Amino acid sequence: MNELAARFNDNAVAARFSDPDLTATGEIRAKVPFNQLDTLWINTGTLCNIECAHCYIFSSPTNDDLVYIKLDEIDPLLKEIKTLKLGTREIGFTGGEPFMNPDMLPMTEAALEAGFDVLILTNAMLPMMRKSVRAGLLELKERYGAQLRLRISLDHYSAHHHDEERGAGSFEKSLTGLDWLNENGFQFSIAGRSLWGEDEAEVKAEFNQLFASRGWSLDADNPEHLMIFPEMDEKADAPEITEGCWDILGLSPDDMMCSNSRMVVKRKGETEIKILPCTLIPFRADFEMGSTLEQSFAIDGGMFDRGAVKLCHVHCAKFCVLGGGSCST
Ligand code: SF4
Ligand code: SF4
Repeated sequence: MNELAARFNDNAVAARFSDPDLTATGEIRAKVPFNQLDTLWINTGTLCNIECAHCYIFSSPTNDDLVYIKLDEIDPLLKEIKTLKLGTREIGFTGGEPFMNPDMLPMTEAALEAGFDVLILTNAMLPMMRKSVRAGLLELKERYGAQLRLRISLDHYSAHHHDEERGAGSFEKSLTGLDWLNENGFQFSIAGRSLWGEDEAEVKAEFNQLFASRGWSLDADNPEHLMIFPEMDEKADAPEITEGCWDILGLSPDDMMCSNSRMVVKRKGETEIKILPCTLIPFRADFEMGSTLEQSFAIDGGMFDRGAVKLCHVHCAKFCVLGGGSCST
């Protein structure tokens, strides 16, 4: 068991989210049937150039629990999407910091060349701003235009709170990267966080001021331009979600990311890639769905019911169902 899995097992909340089929009160646990693979997420590895105070995936300059995934490991998945005629729209890259992965530009090119939209989640700091990466990105933009989009993490509209989370000077470095993307005509959006418990309308107004002051054509009221994500904390308390909750909350399982996505990871020390339901539960072996997409759509037993995912993790409840969060666009 790795350190992160051990951390989860120490968590008191884990006692509640333990039986895949029943909640602690004996009710049927909610599940999310798989509909269609709209987005395939590639986790490029957990290494990151910085170490944020609240990184849900515990990335840092030394954490390589998820190792750099390689072009020849994602190629078969891009082909499988075509062979199975899955109609997938988008390939998303997340980390860690994706631009630290040496295969990042070739993987992006392969996905674009195969006709997919590509979304890269990055902090827009030094790894993206290296000369060779900037040149590669410019070339891809020239060839594929709006098929390529980037989403930049800007936790807060102020340097004070952003740097509190990411380290002194981080805000300015990300702004420099964002200015470069803007000056060169890239499609980009911003990912903020709700960590400071501020009024949402006020946050959007402040972001709009920042966008205007930098000359970025973004509208904080447009969720395609600014997403404010709910917090993810495995130690947080959250109610378990039962089948009855969908009606009570006026939600549908189809609104959950795992109904239309999968994520690929490569674990340190393993030879095969692993498919998981979403970007949010990368370390739990019991959420692994095999090594091919086809296997992931039919997996049965444990956390799965013929490809449907049983919502047996605190992130399912707190981030997705009650927080309305999703990494997809
Ligand atoms: S930049 Fe992103 S991946 Fe890196 S430590 Fe911060 S939240 Fe985690
Ligand atoms: S965390 Fe969200 S997307 Fe992931 S399995 Fe749970 S409900 Fe689905």
